[in-house]
Amino acid sequence: MTVQASSSSSDQTELLAELFAAGMLIETGVPGVYGHSDTFELIRERVAAAVGALASARGAARLTFPPVIPRRTLESTGYVGNFPHLVGSIFGFHGAEGDAVTQRERAATHEDWSEFQGQTDMMLLPAACYPVYPAVAKRGPLKSGGTFIDMGGTWVFRHEPSLDPARRQIFRQHELVRIAEPEGVIAWRREWSELALQLFRELGLRGELENASDPFFGRHGRLLAANQSADELKWELVVQIAGPKPTACASFNYHVDRFAETWGLELSDGTRAHTACVGFGQERITLALLATHGLDPQRWPAAVRTRLGLS
Ligand code: ZN
Repeated sequence: MTVQASSSSSDQTELLAELFAAGMLIETGVPGVYGHSDTFELIRERVAAAVGALASARGAARLTFPPVIPRRTLESTGYVGNFPHLVGSIFGFHGAEGDAVTQRERAATHEDWSEFQGQTDMMLLPAACYPVYPAVAKRGPLKSGGTFIDMGGTWVFRHEPSLDPARRQIFRQHELVRIAEPEGVIAWRREWSELALQLFRELGLRGELENASDPFFGRHGRLLAANQSADELKWELVVQIAGPKPTACASFNYHVDRFAETWGLELSDGTRAHTACVGFGQERITLALLATHGLDPQRWPAAVRTRLGLS
């Protein structure tokens, strides 16, 4: 895959080079797929712990899923149609013994061996919250007050190679999900946008809340994005990292009853539940901290170090 020059600006590629040189990120040869140093991971884990503590203090129950999702589940969400450009499908060998020989030879010389591969029943998870809606629906009608789930930091994949260090193909998204009565869900999303702004302030990050839309594909997608934006269904907490625009480091998404309709999420009175999710981009928040306070956390402001339990 060739990376288009338009996918990154010069200060983004400079920041990426700086992070490689400092050993903070480790190059793999594929844009948007990086290893992390001990220091990078420490910061990321402390940010995750701060979010987890806020969630657990508000009664969140943890639920964990792997970074692959059954193909049928993702197909049912509409993701394949809405974001065909971002999808990662898992394929496996489906040839005969002779094909395996040819496949080995082509792989050894880095030629195309895709003709021996068939689609499996798994896909790479593109958003951490997708597995939770069918899982909660299977439990039966929700009790009054609904449920609040902390999905932790799950690896998610989006096929969008870039030299912007904040645009990864695979990264960890810390998602919180609320499934409940409409008014409870709306208030929860508002509460979490304020909690996140406050956390970012405590971390010395200048964050702004913006109305946003998802990167839906094509002409029909532009219409979906316009509707999403008009209905204020997606807010993003953006911070300047590098590039012409600030980067979304957290998002606050209200799905109305879309997932309830797909999965049959019901309240005890038989009406449809509403859902919302909050996603924190763990690597992006880590990058925002590094870009704001410098690459040496020992020299960060004392209040930020204390908030993250670094000193
Ligand atoms: Zn979500």
